[in-house]
Order: sequence, then structure tokens, then C-alpha cells
Amino acid sequence: MIEKVLIANRGEIALRVIRTCTALGIKTVAVYSDEDYNSLHVKKATEAYHIGEAAPAKSYLNQEKILEVMLSSGADAVHPGYGFLSENDDFARLCEKNKINFIGPSADSMNLCGDKMRCKDAMLKAQVPTVPGSPGLVKDVEEALKIANEIKYPVLLKSVYGGGGRGIRLVTNDKELKEGFETVTSESISAVGKSAIIVEKFLEKTRHIEYQMCRDKHGNAVHIFERECSIQRRNQKLIEQTPSPVVDQETRDRVGELVVKAAEAVDYTNLGTAEFLRSDDGEFYFIEINARLQVEHPISEMVSGLDFVKLQLDIANGETLPFKQSDLKMNGYAIECRINAEDTFLDFAPSTGPVPDVTIPSGPNVRCDTYLYPGCTVSPFYDSLMAKLCTWGPTFDESRTKMLTALNDFYIQGVETSIPLYKTILNSEEYKSGNLSTDFLKRYDMIEKLTEDLKTEKVEKSEAAVAAAIIHSEFFKNRTQTNETSNSNWKNKLD
Ligand code: ADP
Ligand code: ADP
Ligand code: MG
Repeated sequence: MIEKVLIANRGEIALRVIRTCTALGIKTVAVYSDEDYNSLHVKKATEAYHIGEAAPAKSYLNQEKILEVMLSSGADAVHPGYGFLSENDDFARLCEKNKINFIGPSADSMNLCGDKMRCKDAMLKAQVPTVPGSPGLVKDVEEALKIANEIKYPVLLKSVYGGGGRGIRLVTNDKELKEGFETVTSESISAVGKSAIIVEKFLEKTRHIEYQMCRDKHGNAVHIFERECSIQRRNQKLIEQTPSPVVDQETRDRVGELVVKAAEAVDYTNLGTAEFLRSDDGEFYFIEINARLQVEHPISEMVSGLDFVKLQLDIANGETLPFKQSDLKMNGYAIECRINAEDTFLDFAPSTGPVPDVTIPSGPNVRCDTYLYPGCTVSPFYDSLMAKLCTWGPTFDESRTKMLTALNDFYIQGVETSIPLYKTILNSEEYKSGNLSTDFLKRYDMIEKLTEDLKTEKVEKSEAAVAAAIIHSEFFKNRTQTNETSNSNWKNKLD
């Protein structure tokens, strides 16, 4: 039985894990970098150890140092959170070797999930539909050209080791493909030291819909419903909701059965996520597995009534799932807004620094997972995610209006946030009617709408911020979208 968990992470997710452990009487060990001396996860854990400098490579990614703390503190398990070492199979293997219970899948399963091609192959064998593309890795540009012309442009070049929206490039003709092949290769090598490319058909006007997978060590598997994560910027999610407006019970069951097969195909244990793209004609295509606790897990907790970290601990302890698929019922509607420290009008550039004051929203069915407190600092070294604001309602509209109230209640002094943009989105007819796609922001000119809302004071912001918003929006309107090497803009090229 797990008695002491080291949390190899920081920020809101470290706090999230500590909260459940504490409630269960499990001791917690925090680790922290130079930048995190005053962070809440350090204060809330039973014990805390300094592990190095601010740069992730010198602390939160330093496997040997973290192992040293696990052994010296007597932790018997490790929770990796998301990001950092969470999908690093070498780290999972290092824990296995040292008899430390890694709360997640086995190192072998994680290794398979981390390779998009091998994982897609496993799905094809299990008859889970995947995005059409090359049957395997493409060995050179000539082969990529041949396949692109067979499946027809536009296509995506993807590094099988990519992640977090990196190592992906949209190309629309032979010339772009030749250039793109070079860029994806060098980007992937500089990020992870290796590259291997696949060609995928680029699916237009798609939704990102993912399923929560759950499988114990005895082979019992269920899905805990879907999440729609189509509102994105730079291929990263901003707003998520469950249920998806386009998934009815028949579809939920049908795709859910595929998800259970997917988990079996890669011998997945513990909680994970199977990501799909849904085309406009309603077909689901598997894209990848995220072998960890997902950022947006709270909305699934809200509609299922389960504590996912407790479930993870139980599975890691070797327990049998306490429910069957038919026991799980989806109740109500939940929405998550990722409150990022970033400037919408500066192409989502990070905004960091001291936060002298903050007011956290609350109330019935409002949940805010955050590391913020008055006087804290948003560090430039880490993720821009400051808080995950989630609301629940018996109807979608009650969840949505509750979110708008909570967004209005959220006050964060000192940094720019994504809150004003979310108010505009949640008030828009497109969002209300569930008309979502991964290019939502651009398709419906949401940043233009935000500028209008700021001018007409529908969204509150300081006078200086309104002036800056207007200047920036003029700037972006005039800027030509020809920077083809900018990966963050690869989706804009089709317009
Ligand atoms: P989710 O699918 O859970 O929503 P994201 O793709 O938003 O996950 O990633 C969550 C966080 O994990 C990111 O904001 C980033 O900090 C980190 N992350 C994800 N993928 C990578 C990666 N390949 N390299 C480094 N960090 C990553
Ligand atoms: P990552 O590992 O960076 O999360 P994914 O393969 O999950 O990469 O893709 C991230 C996002 O890129 C998806 O949510 C979707 O918006 C877009 N995307 C990925 N593959 C395709 C595709 N074949 N066609 C269209 N969009 C895609
Ligand atoms: Mg993904």
C-alpha cells in the first residue's frame, strides 16, 4: 500500500495531487527549484526538498536528483503530474528498477504511447480508425512527396516524438513539403534529440474530442466519457467541456468501446487519454494517447463524481476497478477555462511577474485549481497556466452562465490573463450553439470580437489595456500571414 508519495511536479497540479493524498492520510513529499521557495505546494506537502536551479533541466527534469530525494525521504510512490517527466519512459523505468511505484502506465506501455507511429500501428491492428496517412515512417523527402500526392494535399508532417504542439507542420504543395521536411526534422532534433516523420492527411474543420481511459492491472477497462477540447491556440487547448455537444449516447458508447480496445492494444494501465479528431461528417480518427493525468481532468471528475487522483492511487496499489462501465453515469455539464498568464493581443506571449493581489472565484459548483495567492509570482521559467477554472451545471447554459460569473469574480493583479478573451468566447453565439472546431478563434474572429467588447466595455479592462488592445489588433490586421516557418501559424495558411 502506498504510504508516501513524492510529487515530481509544481504549480496547480502538485497541489491537486497533495490535496487527495492528504485527505486519504497519505504523506506527501514536494520537490522545488530556486524559483519555488515560496510556492504553495512546498508549504502544503508533509516534507519538501530543494532540487536545483529554476531551469527545468536543472530541477524538475533532473531524474537522478529526484530519485535521490525519493530514496532518502522514503517515498514509496511517485506522481509525475503532467508535463516534465510525466511521459518519460526512462524515468518510469528508473522508478520501476528502484522499486518505487510509478503512478501511471508501465515504462513499456508509455514508450509505445510516446511514439505516434507505433501507437497508430497498434490502433490499426486493434481496428481503431486513425487519421489516414503514411503506412509507416517516411524515410526521405521523395517518399513523403509520393505519399502526399497519393493522399492529396493539404497534409501534415509530424515528428512521431513531437508533443505540446511542436514538430507538426502543415504543407499544401510539393515545394512546401520539401521545406517542411527539413524544418520538422531540425525542430524535433533540437527538442528531443531525434526525429522520425510521418505524413498525415490534414483534416479540415475538425473537432478535438478525447476520451478518458481507465484500466487496472488485472485488465479491467472502462472509459469515463469524452471531453471536447476544440477551442485551442497554437494546437493547445484553452477551453474544454463535457459532454461534447455532438456526442450522443449512441456515439459515446460506440467510440467508448474503441477506447477500451485502444487501452488494451497498448496494455495501458492507470488513467490516460485517447485523443481523436472528429471530422465534419461525424467520423472519429485516433491521433494519440496522453499517458498521464490530463490537465482538464477536473471536468470529467465533475460529471462522473469520481476523484481521479484517488483512482490513480488505487490502481497503482493493484486494486480492482470498483465499477463496471454500466455503473458509470454522466451527470450534468462541466466547463474548464485555462487561466493563462499571457497577452491575447501579443500573439499569446507569456506575461510574468509578481501578483500582489488575487481574488479566487468560488460558490456552488465552482472549482478553481490554482497555485495563486496574494503576493505570489508568475515565473517565466514554467508553463503559463495559473489556474483552471471549472464550473458545473445541470444544463449546459447553467454551467456557461456560472462560468461567466466566476470569470467576472476572478481578479489577478499584475499580469495579463486570458480571462477577457474567455468572456467574449462564452458570450458568443458560436460557442452557445456548440459550433466548435479547432480553428474556432480564427474562424469566428474572436480576437476582433474581444477588441469590440473592450471598446464597448462589455468586458472590463483598464483604460491602458483597452488602448493597447486596439493598437495590437490594428497591428495584427495589417501583418501579412506569410511567415511560413512560424509553427504557431501553420493552421492559418489555409485561409
Ligand atoms: P493536455 O493534453 O493534458 O491538455 P497539454 O498538451 O496542454 O496537455 O500539455 C500540458 C502541459 O504539459 C503543457 O502546457 C506543457 O507544460 C506540458 N507539455 C506537454 N507536452 C510537452 C512536451 N512535449 N514537452 C514539454 N512539456 C510538455
Ligand atoms: P501534440 O502531441 O502536440 O498534442 P497532436 O497530434 O495531439 O499533437 O495534435 C495537436 C493538435 O493539432 C490537435 O488537437 C489538432 O488541433 C491538430 N491536429 C493534429 N493532427 C491533425 C490532423 N491530421 N488534421 C488536422 N489537425 C490536426
Ligand atoms: Mg495531443
